Amino acid sequence: MKIEEEIGVNQLDILSIDALPTIQRAIRLVEENHNVKIDLDNIPMDDEATYDLLCEGRTLGVFQLGGQGMVDLVTKLKPRTLEDIAPVVSLHRPGPMQSGMEYDGRATQFHGYAGLQHEGQVLAIYKEGNRVDSIEAGDEAVIVLDHTPFYAESGGQVGDRGVLLSDGGAFTVAETQKIQVDVFGHRGQLQSGRLALNNKVSAKVDQVARARTERNHSVTHLMHKALREVLGDHVEQKGSLVDADKTRFDFVHNLPMTEAEISKVEAMVNAEIFTNTATKTRVMKMEDAQKTGAVMLFGEKYGEEVRVLEIGSSRELCGGTHVNRTGDIGLFKVCFQSGIAAGIRRIEAVTGEAALEYVQQNEIQLLEIAKALKTQPEEATQKIFQITDNVRRLEKNLSRLKLKLASSQADNLINQAREIKDVKVLAASL
Ligand SMILES: [Zn+2]
Repeated sequence: MKIEEEIGVNQLDILSIDALPTIQRAIRLVEENHNVKIDLDNIPMDDEATYDLLCEGRTLGVFQLGGQGMVDLVTKLKPRTLEDIAPVVSLHRPGPMQSGMEYDGRATQFHGYAGLQHEGQVLAIYKEGNRVDSIEAGDEAVIVLDHTPFYAESGGQVGDRGVLLSDGGAFTVAETQKIQVDVFGHRGQLQSGRLALNNKVSAKVDQVARARTERNHSVTHLMHKALREVLGDHVEQKGSLVDADKTRFDFVHNLPMTEAEISKVEAMVNAEIFTNTATKTRVMKMEDAQKTGAVMLFGEKYGEEVRVLEIGSSRELCGGTHVNRTGDIGLFKVCFQSGIAAGIRRIEAVTGEAALEYVQQNEIQLLEIAKALKTQPEEATQKIFQITDNVRRLEKNLSRLKLKLASSQADNLINQAREIKDVKVLAASL
């Protein structure tokens, strides 16, 4: 039996957190059947970050390799860590949209690079995973369209939300995911009226959310390039999550970034933003794309035709949606960094109004601190040093006084002692 059948999967897709039991089962089977030891001890298996790594960066490299191909790879690699095996374990995610969704109709054509609104026709409706002919107001469902401007989650970028308007009803889309490679599922709820198969709809993407997400996606490319320049060529993307709020980027690097390194990355990325160059995309054959020197992400699956994206001075293969000019990003600010696994760092950053908000919040905090210290913001640090110095001095004085007090109390007690039959006796309540 093929290993995919043994572990109950048949195709690689993006992993999700639900996939953990399947990963563990797969690993055990590979170990047993092929006499290899996979050491997972130093991998935090319950750490969300590990899954993110698995999900976003490391899993897609053997997309075409099923069954024996995967086993051969595992055997050859003799993996010792989960990171080794992640590109090898070929898994299918039975995601919320995929379970029970049989579909053999036409593919969805995506129009969302050029515009945020497009007419489409309802090709399929799924309610609680089952195909239905129509839905009523209040029903939650997944809608498949023949044409859509909605971007379906992939490459770290979340799917679009928005609304599908038909003559008979309004369906709000909370998320968009691919239910098959070229079939987009719009998940959401019918707010009013009725929606039926073959209905024509006007599909409208939430512009604000899309614009914010695009800023965060575009800046991820600029940040990736700046990180390589500041920290070195060993910086390799291990995962990314781009949504309307932020970009989260995991990469290979051993040490926490210093403040100076972060400032340098911020300065480089913002310099690209101020230059305000136009984004260029070209679709070309994979071999031609390789000649352009575009960054290709390890483990990412690419078709024969790829999309080369030039934004600022970065050039990467990417199917995501992006700002028209770097200036659209507005402002870039790193707001968080941490280590998430051995040799893997995570950085989070914000753009546009979120970056402004972040800077303003920090300023408000500083003003409050200054107010509490009864000084000006620029003198707050000095004031804190003064206060901590004072506290230290007072503590020293206090302990000296305590000592003095204790010894004078002892003297007093000794003075109170009475001599009874040549023996000194002290009666005192302490
Ligand atoms: Zn991208």
